Amino acid sequence: MSKPLILALSKGRILKETLPLLAEAGIEPLEPLDKSRKLLFETTLDNVRLVILRAVDVPTYVQMGAADAGVAGKDVLLEHGARALYEPLDLNISRCRLMTAGIEGVTPDRARRRVATKFVNIARRYYSGLGIQAEVIKLYGAMELAPMMNLADEIVDIVDTGNTLRANGMVARELIADISTRLVVNKASMTVQHARLGPLIEQLREAVTRRSGEATGP
Ligand code: AMP
Repeated sequence: MSKPLILALSKGRILKETLPLLAEAGIEPLEPLDKSRKLLFETTLDNVRLVILRAVDVPTYVQMGAADAGVAGKDVLLEHGARALYEPLDLNISRCRLMTAGIEGVTPDRARRRVATKFVNIARRYYSGLGIQAEVIKLYGAMELAPMMNLADEIVDIVDTGNTLRANGMVARELIADISTRLVVNKASMTVQHARLGPLIEQLREAVTRRSGEATGP
C-alpha cells in the first residue's frame, strides 16, 4: 500500500471550522474526534489520516515531514518562522487581528517598552522594525493581566471582538497583522504526494470560494 497522506490539524477553535471544509473535500474522520483520547484518525478517504495537535506544533510536524500538510493560524506561522513550508491556500477561517494593546488612557513611551506576549519572535521583529527598544516578556496566557499587574507596558495579542481587552480596561493600539487560517504543505510532499495533494488543495480552494460567495451572495 502507498504511504499514508498525513494532515496535521490545530486543536480547538480552528479545528471546529476546519472540519466542515475538509468534509467538503471528501475527508471526514471515521470516528468522532472528541469521543476518545486518540490523536491519529483514519478518514473516509483511503489512506488519508488526520493528526490533531496543539496549534504551535503544526508547523514543526509539517516542516519536518512528519505530516505532509497542515492547517494553522497565520499568527502561529509567523511566530514559528515556517520558512521551509508552502502556504498554497488561505482557508479564510478563524479571522482575527494581531495587535498591540495597552491600558486605556495611558500613552506608551516612544523609545522603550516592556511587552508581554506569547508571540515573542513577532514582537521582537515588530518593535525593532519601528526602532523601539522592547524588553519582550514571554507569557503563556492571560496577557491582559500583565499591564494591570505592572509586569508590562504593552501586550501583543490576538484580538477578535475586543471584548477581552475592554473587560480588562485595555484598548487595542497598533495592528501588526491580519490573521486567518492557512493550509501549509511540506515541500518534499508537494512533489512526492502531488497526485493526492493537488486535488485536495483544489477541492479546498473551491470550498473556500463557495463560502465567500455565500457570505457576499445576492
Ligand atoms: P476577543 O475578546 O473577541 O477580542 O477575543 C480575544 C481572545 O480570543 C484572544 O485573547 C485570543 O486568545 C482568542 N482568539 C480570538 N480569535 C482567535 C483566533 N482566530 N485564533 C486564536 N485565538 C483567538
